[in-house]
Amino acid sequence: MDISRRKLLGTSVLAGMACSGVTAAGWGAPGAARLSTSRKRLLLRHTWTIARNSSDFKENVFVRLERDGVVGWGEAAPNVRYQQSADETLAALARVRSLIEAGDWFQYVSLRQQWERAIPEESCACAALDMAVLDWVGRKLNVPLYRLLGLDAAQAPVTTFSIGLDTPEMIKQKVKEAGDFPVLKIKVGTANDEQIVGAVREVTDKPLRVDANEGWHDKEQALEKIRWLQRMGVELIEQPLPAARLEETAWLRERVEMPILADEAVTRAADIPRLATAYDGINIKLMKAGGLQEALRMIHIARALGLKIMLGCMIESSVAISAAAQISPLVDYADLDGNLLVSNDPFAGVTVDRGRLILPDRAGLGVSERAAG
Ligand SMILES: [Mg+2]
Repeated sequence: MDISRRKLLGTSVLAGMACSGVTAAGWGAPGAARLSTSRKRLLLRHTWTIARNSSDFKENVFVRLERDGVVGWGEAAPNVRYQQSADETLAALARVRSLIEAGDWFQYVSLRQQWERAIPEESCACAALDMAVLDWVGRKLNVPLYRLLGLDAAQAPVTTFSIGLDTPEMIKQKVKEAGDFPVLKIKVGTANDEQIVGAVREVTDKPLRVDANEGWHDKEQALEKIRWLQRMGVELIEQPLPAARLEETAWLRERVEMPILADEAVTRAADIPRLATAYDGINIKLMKAGGLQEALRMIHIARALGLKIMLGCMIESSVAISAAAQISPLVDYADLDGNLLVSNDPFAGVTVDRGRLILPDRAGLGVSERAAG
């Protein structure tokens, strides 16, 4: 490198450091901070039905962190399966407000331990804090989070598009609407599974992944269903039996070729070792894990145990989906379509091109608020 180029680079690095508040004396004490929360009703394009329940909207909670004129965003998607609600999530966030506002957000590792201790049962509130702090750090340093983590956006996987339970006619219509997606995820776990998958197969020969959401309760019945699904070109199945039935799932796994992934059976890193005997892989979701930091630990533990990894989501806006997408280059399968199922997403962020996740080339999570309207 010639001297003039080195000088130029040196000048711009110093200018950048000045902009981001880094002085020659090092990192100063954190400035005044503000944590604010809001709730938003996300409307579903189609009524969303799975083996457990059905809904037309979801109430998610947004976290906004501001310090030094830089804003970070996070989102919580409370889920009844994990005994969570928007009210309870807002109350949990209120309990840690002063802790977060007083904390140094660059020390997000130890700060996370503190909020986890304060609200240990509130995984989606923790997830919202974790993504807001990491979004803020990325924006403050003016670098996309995936770059901060050393990941290659070009390795982001294809996401499936999920087809909820419905009548055969509606399922066929939804499959047609999902024409741009090369792989579909079909919800099963009902008395009508053959009808559902049959309807899908009438209109497409794309690879399918299925999710029974703990809907089958008998291992012999599950075995019969999976063998049939194998013949229908299904490449993997999530949570065929209830989460607590580990031995029966291990029995099932011995008898089928299709990979069986844990979803409801796995929330955090500590759950993974005992699941390795019964499942071929795990579905990691930020809302179950409590955020990106725990999701990264889960990815590394699952890899060490030889498990496949899916990165999934709840019904979420572009904030949480863009957060998960930041670490998606590390996983085998992505199911990050929650924002695409919503008709009033208040944010823009990650986009999808023929199923492939396109990470925004913007700082932090790369999300921005859409104009209201
Ligand atoms: Mg699932």
